[in-house]
Amino acid sequence: MVMTARELDPRVQAFLADGPKRLLIDGAWVEAASGRTFATLDPATGERLAEVAEGDATDIDRAVKAARRAFDEGPWSTMTPAERSRLIWRLADLIEERSEVLAQLETLDNGKPLAVARRDDLGGTVDYFRYYAGWPTKVEGATVPVSVANTFAYTLRQPVGVCGQIIPWNYPLMMAAWKVAPALAAGCTIVLKPAEQTPLSALLLGELCLEAGIPAGVVNVVTGYGETAGAALAAHPAVDKIAFTGSTEVGRLILRAASQSNLKKVSLELGGKSPNIVFADADLSQAREGAAGGIFYNMGQDCTAGSRVFVEGSIYDDVAQFIADHAKGLTVGSGLDAATDIGPLVSQEQVDRVLGYMQLGPTEGARVLSGGGRAQGAGLDRGFFVQPTVLADARNDMRVAQEEIFGPVVTVIPFRDVEDVIRQGNDIAYGLGAGVWTRDLAKAHRVAAAIRAGTVWVNTYGPTDPALPFGGFKASGHGREMGFEAIHLYTEVKSVWVNLGEG
Ligand code: NAP
Ligand code: MG
Repeated sequence: MVMTARELDPRVQAFLADGPKRLLIDGAWVEAASGRTFATLDPATGERLAEVAEGDATDIDRAVKAARRAFDEGPWSTMTPAERSRLIWRLADLIEERSEVLAQLETLDNGKPLAVARRDDLGGTVDYFRYYAGWPTKVEGATVPVSVANTFAYTLRQPVGVCGQIIPWNYPLMMAAWKVAPALAAGCTIVLKPAEQTPLSALLLGELCLEAGIPAGVVNVVTGYGETAGAALAAHPAVDKIAFTGSTEVGRLILRAASQSNLKKVSLELGGKSPNIVFADADLSQAREGAAGGIFYNMGQDCTAGSRVFVEGSIYDDVAQFIADHAKGLTVGSGLDAATDIGPLVSQEQVDRVLGYMQLGPTEGARVLSGGGRAQGAGLDRGFFVQPTVLADARNDMRVAQEEIFGPVVTVIPFRDVEDVIRQGNDIAYGLGAGVWTRDLAKAHRVAAAIRAGTVWVNTYGPTDPALPFGGFKASGHGREMGFEAIHLYTEVKSVWVNLGEG
């Protein structure tokens, strides 16, 4: 049964009914200087959920000034690590307390199944803030034995400063968490620019930051378009660092803006076209499920989606057919329907893009084993629904195998042996994730070492943990989020020389 508008949590109804959403700048909710707003849609119906302030360069400038002041004058940067730690933990508690509201907002704005939003997006976000709540008291420098007489040398690890954080729409709250939590832990201040398709959960996160007692100006949230608000943030001379997750194309623009302004630091988490490799000696029932789950999770709108499934020749037909049957068995529908496995894509633009690849596949010689078009059925005509699609007999050099589709479309490609699959797996511009399914331990480690990707999953696919670094080789990005690596992203190392000599 689809949850109706009346069955939504009353706090969600109140949040949506409460007039146009404003920007959070310097601890206050303000309209965009231009007075303009834009609509955010429910992708399951195509209907407007809320009007949201359309921040632009003027608002970004206000927000950066607030973040600058909060960083340069305190209290965030002058607060003790233990105090910052407590506030981040308090924020995690508030997110947990409000998790049903946030999960429903996430499903309404993004389309994902509510059960997934509750378990993964909200569960993951709370864990993430808790993990980083522990870090402020552990960001250490080192004493270093330099070879200069009478000298004491040490390093300090200090916050990088004002951080612009630009995030995508596929995991709106979790992407905010991945960026906000380590930046706060490091002692930075923030201007967050959520994706235009999914601004709502970031706004509620901003509200919870205030409620937690995080001082005004430390976390600012400016909703708006990438070409205006995002570009202004990337080019702003008073921003010390930009953290970006999204398309490779926009990643290039961010790097260019940084290089043409103040050479701010940049970390990028970009796209992927990850190989998920099934060897004939794998536990087949586990591997086949892993290959299907690796692509259809979050409607394939996942930077680590296992969108190139490589299958060893002798089991190729069996595995390809299994994934196709699995796809046919998935229920497409509203994320508010408890029976739904596959929700809508985030936008009509994304539908058009994904349908384009579904049509391209057969013209390149791939065989459509399941899906291949818009999803039909009761209640699906208004929303952004497509069928989970399997393109079999694909070759790694096809465009459908080389380009990130970012939808529930998988190319299934045969391979001969270990050498062949390492070569094909690496023959791609990206390097974000990879999966290896085999019972042969030596083979697993050999392939894990040889695949050029930031994460390799062996006999599993897709888990992340706040303690384990995550990021990309090659065109999949710069830098690593999570773990101590993310503290590195948000700190600068200072070397201090002290002359102990006399006279
Ligand atoms: P995108 O354009 O890269 O958007 C990501 C973020 O960057 C959004 O907040 C966006 O704002 C902002 N942005 C856009 N142009 C900008 C600019 N010139 N300067 C600064 N910021 C800018 O991604 P998309 O258009 O939403 O999706 C397109 C493709 O990107 C997808 O099909 C997929 O292949 C890839 N993608 C990858 C990931 C990932 O996790 N790696 C996530 C999302 C998308 P707006 O919201 O206003 O555009
Ligand atoms: Mg929306």
